Amino acid sequence: MSTAFLAHLRAELDGLRGAGLYKSERVITTPQGATVKTADGREVINLCANNYLGLSSHPAVIEAAHEALRTHGYGMSSVRFICGTQDLHKALEARIARFVGCEDAILYAAAFDANGGLFEPLLGEQDAVISDELNHASIIDGIRLCKAQRWRYRHNDMADLERCLAEAKAQGARFTLVFTDGVFSMDGTIAQLDAMRALCDRHGALLGIDECHATGFMGATGRGTHEHRGVFGKIDIITGTFGKALGGASGGFTAARREVVELLRQRSRPYLFSNTLMPAIAGASIAVLDLLEASTALRDKLADNTAYFRGAISRAGFDIKPGEHPIVPIMVYDASKAQQLASRLLELGVYVVGFFFPVVPKGQARIRVQMSAVHDRRHLEPAVKAFAQAGRELGIAK
Ligand SMILES: *Cc1c(COP(=O)(O)O)cnc(C)c1O
Repeated sequence: MSTAFLAHLRAELDGLRGAGLYKSERVITTPQGATVKTADGREVINLCANNYLGLSSHPAVIEAAHEALRTHGYGMSSVRFICGTQDLHKALEARIARFVGCEDAILYAAAFDANGGLFEPLLGEQDAVISDELNHASIIDGIRLCKAQRWRYRHNDMADLERCLAEAKAQGARFTLVFTDGVFSMDGTIAQLDAMRALCDRHGALLGIDECHATGFMGATGRGTHEHRGVFGKIDIITGTFGKALGGASGGFTAARREVVELLRQRSRPYLFSNTLMPAIAGASIAVLDLLEASTALRDKLADNTAYFRGAISRAGFDIKPGEHPIVPIMVYDASKAQQLASRLLELGVYVVGFFFPVVPKGQARIRVQMSAVHDRRHLEPAVKAFAQAGRELGIAK
């Protein structure tokens, strides 16, 4: 490889380090859980996984994966339309569609692919797509790949969304799709889907949501943000992941009316040109939906843990973004303080991560804590104590 090219790459990497933007990966040697072991052998309380329902290492899920391995093999070595569609894949599509309240669903290797392959097959240059300015990177990329005219509204700002809807109509858009994260991952903000549905209806627009931080636990029976906001069954397109609350392995889906899913199977490039989901993931994901449809115990425990932790960490003197989502942003504001707090907490046995610019706006650095149903008070109480101690030491907690 040319030395000039390598020198260029090293300069880029040095630039990232110099700007404090370099991401290092911490090595874990255990399954995902309430606690994990780091490479140095220490056991720490894990407060930064998307393991909302504690299903990443749940015995019933692991057993279902083993069973699917035994009955359906390890891999399919095929895309879906050649010889990569098993009964398990069809069953999971039907089950996830029903769970989120849609007619049909299509599986992808990841939600990133579900979003990446969503817009281009459905919308042409006569159409419009309107998105929240803080939407996930995969939505932004998916929209870039389609020819529709684009509008962006200010984050969670319904008046600005209405402006975009009116402008798209004035420009003569044939079809208009409004698309938003159901829950925004940095703040735990819950999209105002009831207001959005009403606005979209008034302007004849379609409404789509990305439910990666919602499916399985938002709403009274965990169906998602639409259930939480009272518009279950009224969302036109839903994308989501199996890589967070629903077992946390990998895989994504798009759920919608039959015609939408049928056209995606014909035209969606990440679906057509990428390998089918591992059978063990399909089998285990079905077991996850069995668990969630049989009982709301896990989402109820998650809600209880969230309410406890939000109260306790506020009482310990920390400033948090208010809300009810298991994402609890603990505001530190200063980027280096956020990193110091995360390091000190790790020494004290609590694994959390600091987020700072450009992931969040400048001066808005934070520790993003995520609750899980796998946590008990015996994890959360010492975690709050450690926060209180580290916060005092660093002059962060009031
Ligand atoms: C995590 C996430 C994704 C990507 O999900 P994967 O299945 O891991 O690709 C997409 N959208 C949002 C909002 C996410 O949080």
